[in-house]
Amino acid sequence: MRSHYCGALSTANIDETVTLCGWVDRRRDHGGVIFLDLRDRQGIVQVVFDPDTEEHFQRADKVRSEYVLKLTGRVRARTESTVNPTMATGQIEVLGKQLEILNASATPPFQLDEHTRVGEEVRLQYRYMDLRRQEMQERLILRSRITSAVRNFLDGEGFLDIETPILTRATPEGARDYLVPSRTHPGKFFALPQSPQLFKQLLMVSGFDRYYQIAKCFRDEDLRADRQPEFTQIDIETAFLDEQEIMAITERMIRGLFAAVLNVDLPAFPHMTYADAMDRYGSDKPDLRIPLELVSVDDLMQQVEFKVFRGPADDPAGRVAALKVPGGASISRKEIDDYTKYVSIFGARGLAWIKVNDLAAGVEGLQSPILKFMPDDIVAQMMTRLGAANGDIIFFGADRTRVVNEALGALRIKVGQDQGMVADGWAPLWVVDFPMFEESATGGWTPLHHPFTAPSCDAEQLAASPGTALSRAYDMVLNGTELGGGSIRIHKRDMQEAVFRILDIDEAEAQEKFGFLLNALQYGAPPHGGLAFGLDRLVMLMTGATSIRDVIAFPKTQSAACVMTDAPGVVAAEQLKELNIRLRQTREAVEQGE
Ligand code: ASP
Repeated sequence: MRSHYCGALSTANIDETVTLCGWVDRRRDHGGVIFLDLRDRQGIVQVVFDPDTEEHFQRADKVRSEYVLKLTGRVRARTESTVNPTMATGQIEVLGKQLEILNASATPPFQLDEHTRVGEEVRLQYRYMDLRRQEMQERLILRSRITSAVRNFLDGEGFLDIETPILTRATPEGARDYLVPSRTHPGKFFALPQSPQLFKQLLMVSGFDRYYQIAKCFRDEDLRADRQPEFTQIDIETAFLDEQEIMAITERMIRGLFAAVLNVDLPAFPHMTYADAMDRYGSDKPDLRIPLELVSVDDLMQQVEFKVFRGPADDPAGRVAALKVPGGASISRKEIDDYTKYVSIFGARGLAWIKVNDLAAGVEGLQSPILKFMPDDIVAQMMTRLGAANGDIIFFGADRTRVVNEALGALRIKVGQDQGMVADGWAPLWVVDFPMFEESATGGWTPLHHPFTAPSCDAEQLAASPGTALSRAYDMVLNGTELGGGSIRIHKRDMQEAVFRILDIDEAEAQEKFGFLLNALQYGAPPHGGLAFGLDRLVMLMTGATSIRDVIAFPKTQSAACVMTDAPGVVAAEQLKELNIRLRQTREAVEQGE
């Protein structure tokens, strides 16, 4: 139907007759001349109809926002005074000759350029309209270019794109499963995959050697900021590559992707141990664009009487750490109070601080409510250790290690942002040497990654000291966001069984849930490993969007619903019967909260 995209027209097309198809972005009537801004996925161009073309002018007069048109006209240069430098096609316009209304539009639920005036709920309800906005079009176009660049890279490296089932058994990745009842097996359920983890491992057992898939994953997680119940991973698995080789190849992929799509040359990816990351940044996904670091002062605080510091300093499970903010002495009491409130979200019971006014004047030159509790020489040693200078503020965290890391780690980011300390550009890194397990709320062990991750030690050492064992896992982090993570996997049955035992999965349960994996590991499973990147998060970072919902065509709301299709929805009693399902409460009772 069309000869050109609206947004692709330029001065190179002057005097050409073009046929365009698109939506009316705006229509203006200027003293007998009608201006239409016509929009398609490439952009917008101005079309002018004057009364010379009587019949078509009449039609142009009738169109309204979001009508779909096909029109033909001649491209001409705009006069100097009407050039619009803020518009990509602002040098030209199209003098309309013929206009066909392909379809009318009801009054839009919101003006596209006023989308911020309606809530996200309205935008999601009319998502097909919201997606007409140029910003959304650009994001989804970039998303497509990203997946295409990823595919090209992986295809070129000999990876095979192999699909894995959506109707399957539970694959534990730490979330709840979405379940699908089976009609043909009454009382039984499929689980939607939390990831293709076990299938990709089995593909390695089968000898495919290098696998990838742009895979949908499903996780029924508690409501947490910016998560989606279904999301997309770039899922990768390899055999006969060790962790260094896997990191190297996927780093090349991400580097190539940034070069191809954003024309960005990423800096080197340093490797940092998990222990180091927690110690220095209080986070296993540190944002290295912010130049602030946590510094431990436990040894010094073991020498003070001040209980608030002394207690955690003496406790092996506690930590006292300092966060020095250069130039932060100008932070007001009110701001400090706000930061104190902020760290309380992470369980911190207070936020001690010292302002450095005049270092040469010793303790006299410092300002703080806690100085009176500390001997001068300890304060002096601390200033030296922190490299304090006039004008700094130092914040302290003293509590259980987890609380200190979370609170000061988050404060580091917040203060860094508030103080304009976030460097421009990209700061990637690999975090390595994760612990195998962490203590669960009930006192047992849970895997930090998933139960198929190989430890760096043998099974005996692992059983003897699960709390200190490290895994062969690695995460790629970019600007404080975990882009992806993976590991070398367990490829021997006895090791997998040892890990299940530590996780308190007994033999019967292991057999029932993972018997197929345990069996497969007996038939010549090769050493293998891989990782998965969160595509939505990657696209979000690369487009500069602030939510993954903004880079997914049809996302769910925060409460895991689709307001456009009204899913999840009720089903007919007949359908439930077929599935052998009886609801415990009537639907009305559930809705009334009974
Ligand atoms: N299956 C893991 C995940 O979804 C990634 C991996 O280990 O490859 O996080």
